Amino acid sequence: MFINQDKEIAAALSGEEKRQREGLELIPSENYVSKAVLEALGSVFTNKYSEGYPGKRYYGGQEYTDQIETIAIERAKELFGAKYANVQPLSGAPANIAMYFALLEPGDTVLGMDLSHGGHLTHGHPVTAITKIFKFIRYKMKDIETGEIDYDELRALALAEKPKILLAGYSAYPRELDYEKFVSIAREAGALAVMDVAHIAGLIAGKAVKNPFDYGFDVLTTTTHKTLRGPRGGMILTRDNEEIAKKIDKMIFPGLQGGPHMNVIAAKAVAFGEALSPKFKDYAAQVIVNAKAMADVFTVGGVRLITGGTSNHLILADVFGSLGVTGAEAEKALDEVGITVNKNVIADDTRKPLDPSGIRFGTPAITTRNFTAKECTRVAELMLETLKNKDDVAVKDRIKKEITELALAFPVPDSFV
Ligand SMILES: *Cc1c(COP(=O)(O)O)cnc(C)c1O
Repeated sequence: MFINQDKEIAAALSGEEKRQREGLELIPSENYVSKAVLEALGSVFTNKYSEGYPGKRYYGGQEYTDQIETIAIERAKELFGAKYANVQPLSGAPANIAMYFALLEPGDTVLGMDLSHGGHLTHGHPVTAITKIFKFIRYKMKDIETGEIDYDELRALALAEKPKILLAGYSAYPRELDYEKFVSIAREAGALAVMDVAHIAGLIAGKAVKNPFDYGFDVLTTTTHKTLRGPRGGMILTRDNEEIAKKIDKMIFPGLQGGPHMNVIAAKAVAFGEALSPKFKDYAAQVIVNAKAMADVFTVGGVRLITGGTSNHLILADVFGSLGVTGAEAEKALDEVGITVNKNVIADDTRKPLDPSGIRFGTPAITTRNFTAKECTRVAELMLETLKNKDDVAVKDRIKKEITELALAFPVPDSFV
């Protein structure tokens, strides 16, 4: 390995490889990529400048970059049933910024989910730069125990405030929307229906959950590295409106970005190819089966789950309300036994974001390691035991040993097809 020429970086890399091999990754936005995706990512495509789009570049030498970008676009369109795809966004946040600038004028309004109810920073958190340009207003869940969105409030707000975009899509919401209702409210208010499917893209592509395009959504933004199991990156899909697609292309380049990262686009193409394989459907379905198995253990163990359970890949548990352990304490105790989760605010949290009431965890990564409901049930039991004995070193040592053995018994497969 040539990386050994750089001792410091090589040491950190092998440390990270060991950490990933021996620990269990339960952060629901993370996953493992295949060796094929890693090879594309580490390829000579990183050397190439390709400003523009296939067939319309500002530099020469594009015969192979045009091939991979065209293949990535065609596969993305097939996966999501979209007529147009832009695979150049550098990540999820830049994709959202480009989407806002493409579809809005300064001062226009976006109606999105309240952040403590599951929305994302890029949906208008006051710390983000886009809030200086566009106005963000919010809807919430009506019932935190079931996760039902307050569609009456959503409709009232949409009709009163006339947003240009009705934004769905979440980072910490374990349920499925009523897409028909959502789109009909958008139409009634004269807004575009946009969904940020960053978290559930793989579940949509694997046909384990509904596809928002089937219900009339106009645009989807996404990451490619979460459940979709590709390289770190973003993408914007347009269902069928050519005018919108053109605006998005122009905003990505030259509006906001410079040269596309062609090595990442090659890796996206490879990951999309994997997601089109029959095995990916099994993967997506198993992610949900596994999450439900973990949710059941927590519920039986007396932990309150936000929305009462899960219909997708993630679980949001009120560990402070149920066990008296704060989100930060829970994250740390679980880290000590080799389980990575993240602390998370829960709906209308009374605690602060750096030490909130909840933890968020999920099954995309461990399902890639071929965990079934059986192993997931065991992991959830060990999580509960850890949380209930968070200061007991002997208990934690025993649990860490079992977690390491489990992780080593389920390595990430080299190939996903
Ligand atoms: C993860 C996420 C993003 C941001 O993606 P990055 O690649 O981290 O920029 C945007 N929206 C949602 C809903 C997300 O979950």
